[in-house]
Amino acid sequence: MPMQRVVLNSRPGNNGVPVPAHFRLEETTLAPDLEDGEVLVRTLCLSVDPYMRCRMNEDTGVGYVTPWQLSECVDGGGVGVVESSRCSACSEGDVVTSFNWPWQTKAVMKGSALQKVDPQVVDGHLSYFLGAVGITGLTALLGVREKGNVTKGANQTMVVSGAAGACGSVAGQIGRLDGCVRAVGICGSEEKCRALVDDCGFSAAINYRKEDIPAKLQELCPDGIDVYFDNVGGGISDTVIAQMNNNSHVILCGQISQYNKDVPYPPPLSEEIQETLRRNNITRERFTVLNYMNKADAALCELSQLVKSGHINVLETVVEGIEKMGDAFCSMMKGGNIGKQIIKISE
Ligand code: NDP
Repeated sequence: MPMQRVVLNSRPGNNGVPVPAHFRLEETTLAPDLEDGEVLVRTLCLSVDPYMRCRMNEDTGVGYVTPWQLSECVDGGGVGVVESSRCSACSEGDVVTSFNWPWQTKAVMKGSALQKVDPQVVDGHLSYFLGAVGITGLTALLGVREKGNVTKGANQTMVVSGAAGACGSVAGQIGRLDGCVRAVGICGSEEKCRALVDDCGFSAAINYRKEDIPAKLQELCPDGIDVYFDNVGGGISDTVIAQMNNNSHVILCGQISQYNKDVPYPPPLSEEIQETLRRNNITRERFTVLNYMNKADAALCELSQLVKSGHINVLETVVEGIEKMGDAFCSMMKGGNIGKQIIKISE
């Protein structure tokens, strides 16, 4: 049976900016014969995520993430439907997901590598399993809960960088629901600022490409900053940390501004910022969602309810076609997405 897939064509190098030409679309055929335990799946939607940038390097620098190999099929989060099965746990028509879904229109996969999901959990919006009711929603919810020290009635102000992205847009909404009196987002366009305030209940948003971040933070956070959900690192984060209150908390979620640089993770801070953290007793603990998977089921259930009840508004940018995978990844790395970047592969 005919099938299309995306392979890694070349590497950007540890200090390079990824471009669509680093990926290559191939037309090939898939032998649909299944061995015991295997299923044939049709891909419905795929995810592109910032951590994939390190998979483009020969050495990812992260123990639990393996590099993609040249001319081999790329993989990541995906959702699909079972077309035929020789695995007792999966039946034709089941909707399934995996963190290691090949970027293919159809695939033969081991049934044991797939997780069956119930479309009702997301009211039929299956792409939410890759975002708000999937790994980025979990990252936001558990990041805030595990590292944010948000307390109801404590008059706290939260700042979120990368705020209009998949994790950021949910993190600010969780911050508000959990009791922060203010959530201020930092993001890269006017349109994103509007979406945060109008659709996601952020108190205010700052366009870091146009506005003076220190002055805007002072204006929008009159009582200082108590919780900082950091998705980007670099100069934006240095500026936020400089205005944080004593005994406040940085949730170190990601550092995307540094991902095209050959630096360790997390990238080292300047002496000055380290001194600010020490002097003001600011905690800054690394958060890795994969370390909290024992809490995932309960957290996904909560996220599902929050989304269904309208307490969390989900932002998504959806493009169609497997040939757009490389474009979508590179666009997301440069800020082309509002909310979760999804690629729809089939109906
Ligand atoms: P997003 O949907 O937020 O997409 C990435 C966004 O990053 C872009 O839209 C862009 O928005 C912003 N960005 C890119 N370059 C820069 C830059 N130089 N300076 C400032 N902003 C930039 O992605 P995710 O929500 O999937 O991921 C957000 C962060 O969370 C990443 O750092 C990721 O690595 C991390 N993460 C961490 C996890 C964990 O377990 N700790 C799990 C999942 C994600 P803009 O227009 O605003 O520039």
